[in-house]
Amino acid sequence: MAAGPRLREFQLIEHLRRRFGRTGPSVVLGIGDDTAIIKPPPGRHLLLTTDLLVEDIHFTLSTATYEEIGYKAAVANLSDIAAMGGTPHALAVSIAIPRSVNEADVTRLYRGLMAACHPYGVSLVGGDTSASRHGLFLSVTLTGYVAPKRVLRRDGACIGDIVYVTGTLGDSLAGLQLLQKRPRNGISRRDIRYLIARHRRPTPRVQAGQFLVARGLATAAIDVSDGLSGDLVHLCEQSAVGVHIDASALPLSRACRAYAVATRTNPIQLALRGGEDYELLFTVPATRRDALERLRRQAGCRFTPIGVIRSKRFGMTLAIGRGDATPIRNTSYQHFSANG
Ligand code: ADP
Ligand code: MG
Repeated sequence: MAAGPRLREFQLIEHLRRRFGRTGPSVVLGIGDDTAIIKPPPGRHLLLTTDLLVEDIHFTLSTATYEEIGYKAAVANLSDIAAMGGTPHALAVSIAIPRSVNEADVTRLYRGLMAACHPYGVSLVGGDTSASRHGLFLSVTLTGYVAPKRVLRRDGACIGDIVYVTGTLGDSLAGLQLLQKRPRNGISRRDIRYLIARHRRPTPRVQAGQFLVARGLATAAIDVSDGLSGDLVHLCEQSAVGVHIDASALPLSRACRAYAVATRTNPIQLALRGGEDYELLFTVPATRRDALERLRRQAGCRFTPIGVIRSKRFGMTLAIGRGDATPIRNTSYQHFSANG
């Protein structure tokens, strides 16, 4: 690269280091050396997750601000750590910057990233920077740690386990549709604000994941990032089981119901295919159900039983109304703004 852009790159990294970099007892060395040095607590396993976001595939600059893009990039990674029951720890961010994006824009993006990470004390410890001729690229890597015995994998669900989901489903997709098509008649301002906020600033269920791990309550978990139907398929395939879901049990917010009525959409479909809710889908042995209900306040959010794990030979089914069961197909929503 020519001297000019290279200098600009150094200045940008120095600016990001001063503004967002942090070290502490668990981050021995942060931005500035060949690698960071991080120190997980003794006896824990290291978790590592990474996500690549590409302009006009995963986000569009016409509908999302730089803060939102950063915020959601961090949430996607925080949610992955949450789904393992882990504690998020250190963040590395690589960015390829087109000419049209300036330093202030990059700063906004990092501000969004760090705002999402702030509640969890996550430190920015490194990354990489490049120019781009083809749009903005953002790659976010997050580490975390977890007690090895209790980690929540996708492959632990057993026949008879109850299937639970945190929070409510479908809000993020409803919020996205409100942003894109603005079919706002018949929906209150408050509901619109709520749904758009759920799309723009989803909450990673870190506390809920840690609660499940601490109490040893769950046999398996996955985060709902691609839509319930798709993520259920992942969990069931990896656990080699089937599932029966009660459509009437799916947790829907009041705002999502109001949106569904106003737009004549089936809220069940919003819940099944809506991506980016970042709720946790998890399974609990029937014998642990009482313990889970008793301790529910520690989870930091609501959770709802929506079905039961069955033998693989029954397949994956959804009960709608009395007796009728239809196969669950993966109708998951394909990522956010760009191709929605
Ligand atoms: P190297 O040639 O060793 O990759 P760089 O000049 O790319 O060195 O990076 C110098 C330091 O700045 C490293 O600690 C790296 O992790 C950090 N860094 C580079 N780009 C970013 C970025 N976009 N965000 C955060 N840290 C960064
Ligand atoms: Mg580098």
